[in-house]
Amino acid sequence: MTAGLQYPFDLGSLPDAVIGGIGHAGGGLSRQLVDPAARISFAEVRDASLAQVDHSAFAAQTALRLWADTPPARRAQVLMALADLIASQADELTAVECVNVGKPLSQARRDVLRAAEYFRFYAGACDKLNGDTIPLGPDQTAMTLLQPVGVTAHILPWNYPISTLARGVAPALAAGATVVAKPSELTPLSTLMVAKLALEAGVPDGAFNAICGAGEVGEALAAHPNVAHVTFTGSTETGRRVMQAASGPVAGVTLELGGKSPVMVWPDADLDAAAEGVARGIFFNAGQVCAAGSRLLCHADIHDALVDRVVQRARAMTMGHGLTDPDLGPLISEAQFARVEGFVSRAMADGLTCATGGQRAHVPDCPQGLFYEPTVFTRVPETCDIAQVEVFGPVLITQTFETEEDALRLANGTPFGLVAGIYTADAGHAMRFARRVEAGQVFVNGFLQGGDTVPFGGVKHSGIGREKGVSGLRAYLAEKSIVLSHGELS
Ligand code: NDP
Repeated sequence: MTAGLQYPFDLGSLPDAVIGGIGHAGGGLSRQLVDPAARISFAEVRDASLAQVDHSAFAAQTALRLWADTPPARRAQVLMALADLIASQADELTAVECVNVGKPLSQARRDVLRAAEYFRFYAGACDKLNGDTIPLGPDQTAMTLLQPVGVTAHILPWNYPISTLARGVAPALAAGATVVAKPSELTPLSTLMVAKLALEAGVPDGAFNAICGAGEVGEALAAHPNVAHVTFTGSTETGRRVMQAASGPVAGVTLELGGKSPVMVWPDADLDAAAEGVARGIFFNAGQVCAAGSRLLCHADIHDALVDRVVQRARAMTMGHGLTDPDLGPLISEAQFARVEGFVSRAMADGLTCATGGQRAHVPDCPQGLFYEPTVFTRVPETCDIAQVEVFGPVLITQTFETEEDALRLANGTPFGLVAGIYTADAGHAMRFARRVEAGQVFVNGFLQGGDTVPFGGVKHSGIGREKGVSGLRAYLAEKSIVLSHGELS
């Protein structure tokens, strides 16, 4: 691997893969990693060959017995040590994530510290994985054991590389399962760095493997006969392919897919707080967030007043290289940029009103950068593409409603069901909405608040299963029932 000298990290000794506790050169294609703000290659990583996919799944299977049988308190110590190592390397990991993804520095740092926290949280769960007893009368005893599910595959996206890695790997290791992680071809560095730190922390050789590559590597991994569970974060379309691949080994799946999440605002809400939450909820990470609040549903009476406030905030946002810690960094890739541009130009061609943005942003210090202006389209008809499909960029649409029924129908009117928000002073109103909206999580008078101990996941086309919190352990545990017939005391 080669690294540009101008960046505040040294990738010199980073391997292309960590398999069976050893760093390997990749056996496949070589890829340049691009800083999307500067548009220059700063590192090179080689994909794993299909033989290395097989090798990693074999290494994870081989390590399974040892890690599963490691006393829970020892597993907890190891995961805690890994959390400490991630925190101690936070400066370098932050810089890597910032340059590779294009993230503002403070957002990248938050992701790194969240990764450490995931390992800390799940370390605390290792020795609390109790089973049950089931009453069967006096002559039989039934109990359940929660055992590690086996080898788990983690196929990761490019928008939150280190935090999605930790969100799946930490509960899997806590459960005693073993791991093969496959980061996005665009953002593999933090996964490789954490896999190396895991060895230093005492994770046994083969219990945490990392391999690089694109779709064919991910698909081969998901279809591997050794794999018992696949955790995937990405698009709905790729999620379907992963599910199909995982049907070969009849593996379980956790799919965290896209969204088109509504944020609803009522006239009794604090409009300044709502505008702040709405702007942050869509423009954070340049809108490249599965849970972005991309549809603002406004009561008709306050639409213009609220949109003015959101537009003011959008126009005040700074853009620049992530290392300068602006409000918005660039989009990750030319493909993602073209996707966003495509949605916007189709919306313009359809005659939709663009209240702000709607074009490439020119950042003097990064003239080649893939920056896009925070964009707001107002009063968008429900049937428009941009009201139904995930853009995954800094593009907000607004719609208006008059009644509660109307609002709910709009909120539930897409194929997605990831998150939903409501701003209102009426708790009853908020609760009626929370119960009937089709979403995995609902935020009242805030958006995406609550942190990483709260279960997270989607319904409808937004996915299957839950990550984060205690619920995040379930996918990695197989429940075994044992029934003992012992007769009655005579
Ligand atoms: P994908 O959903 O295609 O990729 C996500 C991960 O899956 C990556 O690691 C990718 O590898 C891998 N992958 C791709 N194809 C397969 C396959 N057939 N089997 C197994 N794994 C596979 O996202 P993209 O990067 O292509 O982005 C496209 C769109 O997806 C975005 O515009 C956005 O709308 C959405 N997206 C949603 C995310 C979310 O958080 N829900 C995150 C990222 C994207 P590789 O990237 O190396 O090809």
